[in-house]
Amino acid sequence: MDLQLAPKHLEFRDRLRAWLAANMRRPWRAELRDPAATEDGLMEFRRGWQKKLYEAGYLGMDWPREWGGRGAGEVEKAVFEEEMARADAPPILNTLGIGLLGPALIHHGSEEQRRRFIPSMLSGDEIWCQGFSEPGSGSDLASLRTSARLDGDDFVLNGQKIWTTFGPWADWIFVLARTDSKDRYGGISFILCKLDTPGVTVRPLRQITGESEFGEVFFEDARVPRTHLVGRIGEGWRIAMTVLAYERGAMSLAASARYGRDLDRLAAACKEYGRADAAVREKLARLLVENEVMRANGIRTLAYFAEGKTPGPESSIEKIYWSEFDKRFRDAALDLLGPGGQLLRTSPDARPDVDWAREFLWSRAGTIYSGSSEIQRNIIAKRVLNLPQDAR
Ligand SMILES: Cc1cc2nc3c(=O)[nH]c(=O)nc-3n(C[C@H](O)[C@H](O)[C@H](O)COP(=O)(O)OP(=O)(O)OC[C@H]3O[C@@H](n4cnc5c(N)ncnc54)[C@H](O)[C@@H]3O)c2cc1C
Repeated sequence: MDLQLAPKHLEFRDRLRAWLAANMRRPWRAELRDPAATEDGLMEFRRGWQKKLYEAGYLGMDWPREWGGRGAGEVEKAVFEEEMARADAPPILNTLGIGLLGPALIHHGSEEQRRRFIPSMLSGDEIWCQGFSEPGSGSDLASLRTSARLDGDDFVLNGQKIWTTFGPWADWIFVLARTDSKDRYGGISFILCKLDTPGVTVRPLRQITGESEFGEVFFEDARVPRTHLVGRIGEGWRIAMTVLAYERGAMSLAASARYGRDLDRLAAACKEYGRADAAVREKLARLLVENEVMRANGIRTLAYFAEGKTPGPESSIEKIYWSEFDKRFRDAALDLLGPGGQLLRTSPDARPDVDWAREFLWSRAGTIYSGSSEIQRNIIAKRVLNLPQDAR
């Protein structure tokens, strides 16, 4: 990292580098290429790796110690994420719990909920998924219809969620549900539900990459204790906005470290194939410059966080930048590598450096999940630039 790191942050980075060197058995791309690797096996591997990181004190970096965090700051968190990317370390399994629900509980949950859910979220003992989207309610999330009716001390949930990442692997889901059918925004509540609750069914969905990382979740008279409501009844939309701001922002630094690493590999592969003419060099140089812009954006956000501010609608700028860049980068890689970049990792002739074909397929998803690029542009226009709205 080229940030002006203070001596204590440099020391933290060096200790982390040494820890990774001693504890990572091999880079993530090698885990993925192992012919014996199965989807189940890789998920369990990620859970075990998460536990190792947690026990070494590297998760919940900026969260208070009383809830199982490290009590450090945003800079340590950014250093951690950048070093993980640089080392090609395996991703943790509970990304949605730690990345999204954690901040929601810290900002809006009760003390009891934080103590109950945060430590097991960090250790990987309880994996979470996000139940926002529904068939017909994606971009227009506030049109969601899954209902939660209060009955004594329980909510009774009915409805369906879709595109639920980690649904087939998770233990819990955080659900946006309608507690009032007449109030579009104020009628939504944020509820935590265990996936083995009677009346809850999870069905895996098969993706174009061949994996089944996401699924559909059905609720049929599923009873959830009222104590699993986060915030107050009708406060779900406000909490969802906190969650989405964390989901969209704060990832440019780690992302640019990953792209930097893959760009080096792409340049080396072009050389190997004897492709180094002016057109190739220009394409690579353009990607390099765009990646530097992303890194600068990430540093700006980090400075913002370091002042104690929380992410707001500006995080849409980061989301749109990295996800659109990802598509350009992965398109360019397939163009430059030709047939060499198109073999899936299961093929014995696949390139060992990066699974270029999978990255290309995955890059289609980034401009859709967590709000499509069109929706991010609408948010930037309305809430960041305060542009006048079309009255039609
Ligand atoms: C890989 C992946 C993982 C996901 N994981 C989860 C998850 O874990 N949990 C979860 O709840 N959801 C998840 N989603 C769902 C995701 O949030 C939705 O797909 C997304 O919000 C878009 O909704 P939609 O698919 O219903 O598309 P639609 O809303 O039907 O949009 C279709 C098209 O219309 C455009 N459009 C819609 N409205 C407007 C508008 N007002 N102005 C301009 N253009 C518009 C969109 O940009 C898009 O191009 C995931 C999606 C993907 C791809």
